[in-house]
Amino acid sequence: MSLLPTPETWDASRLFEHVSQKVTNTVLIRIMPVGCSQMGATAAESFCAAAAAEGGGDGADAYVLESGADGGGDVVCAAEAHLAAEAGVEVGEALEDEADAGDPDARGAWGRLRRLGSRLLLLRARDDDVGAAVCAALKDWNIGKLCFESDTEPYALARDKKVSDFAMASGIEVFTPVSHTLFDPADIINKNGGRPPLTYQSFIAIAGEPPAPIFEEYSELPPVGDTGEYELLPVPTVEELGYGDISQEEIPPFRGGETEALRRMKASLQDKEWVAKFEKPKGDPSGFLKPATTVLSPYLKFGCLSSRYFYHCIQDVYRSVRNYTKPPVSLSGQLLWRDFFYKVFFGTPNFDQIKGNKICKQIPWSENEELFVAWRDGRTGYPWIDAIMIQLRKWGWMHHLARHSVSCLLTRGDLFIHWEKGRDVFERLLIDSDWAINNGNWLWLSCSSFFYQYHRIYSPITFGKKYDPNGNYIRHFIPVLKDMSREYIYEPWTAPLSIHKKAKCIICKDYPKPVVDHDTASKECRKRMGEAYASNRLDSNSSKGKPSNLSRRKWSHGDHGASNSSIAKLLRTSRSE
Ligand code: FAD
Repeated sequence: MSLLPTPETWDASRLFEHVSQKVTNTVLIRIMPVGCSQMGATAAESFCAAAAAEGGGDGADAYVLESGADGGGDVVCAAEAHLAAEAGVEVGEALEDEADAGDPDARGAWGRLRRLGSRLLLLRARDDDVGAAVCAALKDWNIGKLCFESDTEPYALARDKKVSDFAMASGIEVFTPVSHTLFDPADIINKNGGRPPLTYQSFIAIAGEPPAPIFEEYSELPPVGDTGEYELLPVPTVEELGYGDISQEEIPPFRGGETEALRRMKASLQDKEWVAKFEKPKGDPSGFLKPATTVLSPYLKFGCLSSRYFYHCIQDVYRSVRNYTKPPVSLSGQLLWRDFFYKVFFGTPNFDQIKGNKICKQIPWSENEELFVAWRDGRTGYPWIDAIMIQLRKWGWMHHLARHSVSCLLTRGDLFIHWEKGRDVFERLLIDSDWAINNGNWLWLSCSSFFYQYHRIYSPITFGKKYDPNGNYIRHFIPVLKDMSREYIYEPWTAPLSIHKKAKCIICKDYPKPVVDHDTASKECRKRMGEAYASNRLDSNSSKGKPSNLSRRKWSHGDHGASNSSIAKLLRTSRSE
């Protein structure tokens, strides 16, 4: 019987990541000869945004390269993952233009660029080194100007630094606008006296209104130039990426790409009353056929949707209604949470770890591989928790409060396991896995930073039951429990054997019994958290008066909070599995 998926089975995040965005060893390059002396920095920025809008929403990872110091040569726009994103994912979708039927290059972003008179050029990098492939193109195509969207994620920072260093050493002008977030992290930190704002309220107080999105539309683009000896590849198909023959129990309901992102956003925003009344943390975490929130996080993460554009469209809805909720609980408030975590990360060394992280409480988490694996694989014996972890593995997305439930249980709620271990699992499996937001929320939920009410623990039994007393969510994601009686669906181990037999689910055989007793474990966790907090207080009292590591200084795009060692670690963890 297939009870629970093993780590080797279907994993939604891999497909989403590969098809929708990070085809890790490929570089998509758009090249066009143009008399581009007219193309100054601002034009380049809007070009970057416009070109990326064709496939990447907010210009994420788009490179615009201009050759020749006199500006008279070729211009190259290389949209690395995010254009691949849509181009790749929309392969297989209905074609917009009948005349292009049967031509895979005519689909998605790829097709739209072609209709504007240009195209994407797809190169394959040797040894997964995308940075090296871009550098080679810069050199071989005699590029004079490089524009790309600033990105703060450690993996991207390392890649972009390599390309920028090469460009600058070769006399190539570099321009890197910020558009992935509502605000420029460096600006906010500078406005806050050189430190990141550590509360949402302080962030809101200094942030003001975000810049408007760029709405420029292009009816044509200059044609592709001479690509020399380079072998240009078509957008890889799902099969070529190695996902053609996976026998999966369930296809995740989320498709990648800008078209889908915009469709999803419009569908959410057309219900003005829903937008006006949106209030987190209200909302049903067990809603899976119709999720209680927008599910736009994967599209924001990969740049298929611009956060500025989304924010702007929400404001349009607010203007058309009488009353609406306000940050932090409103829908626009959620986008501000996103920016908040980006700002804190940007100004906090070692944000992704306990060690050397000034804002993280030092808590002596336990090592217990068996408990950790049970949590990771959805075998804790608590159906609410296991269903969430299985949804994570199969769909790569769960509701915010579902994330709360499982992260609380792993850390300060029951198992007392290190938040970094849970973070790694989320990073691997979420389709919206976002370095700043994921680390920030794990710090929060483990009461290591931002939130300190460690006495408030989610019950793995009663919390889910409040929303879904019949356990439909559990029945869907854990089929072996589908016939368990409503009375026992959240605590099947308490049912008599006759009920187990009737439901064809024998505890310890078909489904595990709980790995810990929640009442005992949560009591012990509270005690340990209390001790850890007390010892942190002592440590901070004894170090009072010592100068802070975060000296007051001016920040710029090139600065980032993560140390080199944490970047190296992140690179290993995010690429090795
Ligand atoms: P909506 O409620 O529709 O919100 C709209 C957008 O606001 C989201 O798409 C997201 O970009 C942003 N947002 C919403 N809630 C938060 C939040 N708490 N913090 C920051 N931004 C927010 N979100 C990620 O995008 N990537 C992650 O890797 C991630 N890891 C998380 C880990 C844990 C332990 C927890 C508790 C939460 C995590 N979140 C993460 C935050 C949140 O759960 C998701 O952003 C949200 O559930 C996405 O669904 P949605 O798009 O329907 O959100």
